[in-house]
Amino acid sequence: MDFEDKDTELEEQADAQEPEEEQEDVCFVCRRPASKAGKMMNLTDDIHICPECMQRMLDMMGGGNVDFSKVDFTRMPNISMINLSDLQNMIPRRQRVKKKAPEQEEQKGPEKELDIRSIPAPHRIKASLDEYVVGQERAKKVISVAVYNHYKRVAAGADADGIEIEKSNMLMIGPTGCGKTYLVKTLARLLDVPLAIADATSLTEAGYIGDDIESVLSKLLAAADNDVEKAERGIVFIDEIDKLAKKKNTTQRDVSGESVQQGLLKLLEGAEIEVPVGANSKNAMVPLETINTKNILFICGGAFPDLEDIIKERLNEQSSIGFRADLKDKYDKEKNLISRVTVEDLRNFGMIPEFIGRLPIIYTLDALSEDMMVRILTEPKNAILKQYQKLLALDEVKLEFTDDALRAIAKKAMEKDTGARALRAIIEEFMLDIMYEIPKDDNIGQVTITGDYIEQRGGPLITLRGVPALEMQG
Ligand code: ADP
Repeated sequence: MDFEDKDTELEEQADAQEPEEEQEDVCFVCRRPASKAGKMMNLTDDIHICPECMQRMLDMMGGGNVDFSKVDFTRMPNISMINLSDLQNMIPRRQRVKKKAPEQEEQKGPEKELDIRSIPAPHRIKASLDEYVVGQERAKKVISVAVYNHYKRVAAGADADGIEIEKSNMLMIGPTGCGKTYLVKTLARLLDVPLAIADATSLTEAGYIGDDIESVLSKLLAAADNDVEKAERGIVFIDEIDKLAKKKNTTQRDVSGESVQQGLLKLLEGAEIEVPVGANSKNAMVPLETINTKNILFICGGAFPDLEDIIKERLNEQSSIGFRADLKDKYDKEKNLISRVTVEDLRNFGMIPEFIGRLPIIYTLDALSEDMMVRILTEPKNAILKQYQKLLALDEVKLEFTDDALRAIAKKAMEKDTGARALRAIIEEFMLDIMYEIPKDDNIGQVTITGDYIEQRGGPLITLRGVPALEMQG
């Protein structure tokens, strides 16, 4: 069986799994589903055309006011020239999308609506984040309040008093590996809303190589199991947003930078967007769904390298006026200069004003210190060391880390400059031998990882059941 046959078979199986009444046909020409475009004319089992497209075809063929419902398509000269069975082989088998059920939704009405009382208060959101994310106190506080306000806004809708609460899209600035993605992932899990994580570097203006901007919504729709209503209340995280900065000194069209910022404006603001289902770009073969982005929370994140220089320059310029002109290197040693960022600095960095304007909540995350690294190793609910301890506990072996071991791991991670991401790589390296050797001997009751073992000056301490500790030969 070749791949194509297999694909078709899989699609047929998938079709068979979804109940017939929950699917609807899609127009072969305009890709709209029957619920939007009207009752479809079936050219074959898998090729359907909506009344509008059919009328257009008939008009093109010279007919004026032809009542297409009375036309026998199989006898039409122009159509019969196309071998429909050939056409069928060219198109994917699945020309159907999941049906939206408006009446049902209306019946469920009040239950489905977001209830203001069910949204956790900011201090509760922050307390939940605290269980997973170490440090970043201000970021956690800002995000908790912003998310609370966002979902209150969704629940309240547009009131009769005409006061509409503004969207709380956010811009998160912080060095790589300091927990930006982790924060958003934890948040989405706690709130139980769908989350799509997209990488700004892969996005390009429509028509160019790369993913269309709408693809971020396709991901969200997939995360919401193709449930449009659920997706419309989800969170989209766009990482590496700093890579969209306007390129300086270029005369070429900037299809992956400034144009993408322009393209994102509509999404951030709130608009009805036609989204390809299960694909990265719109094309004739992909069914489309309409998603309203009004209530989708957009969080953009980036490391913004060199932004500190821009901030420093601005601060130096300010202080060089008047008496303080001699303090030129005043800011060179200042830590967390990044937290002094202003909209002006971001504009100088290359973000367009309209784009920044649609991200009203801007905050920064701190670079991780050695102490924070140590805490990340041990404190979060699913800390990596806890995971290893659990794994070994299943073999009835206790795993311990001395304080200097934790420090040594943190120090090594700091050298790599990739934030907390380095921790896992370091730990996996030295835990490999342990995970390999320990299950060999049933007598081992405890393993203690020491600083010396991390620094490769000795082996871990092994305690046999009922016998004093001894050092394992590495
Ligand atoms: P980035 O800021 O580049 O998006 P991530 O959020 O992907 O970095 O962080 C990488 C990993 O490091 C996360 O999966 C998480 O396990 C860990 N991590 C980073 N920062 C923190 C933190 N503040 N608290 C707990 N874990 C963290």
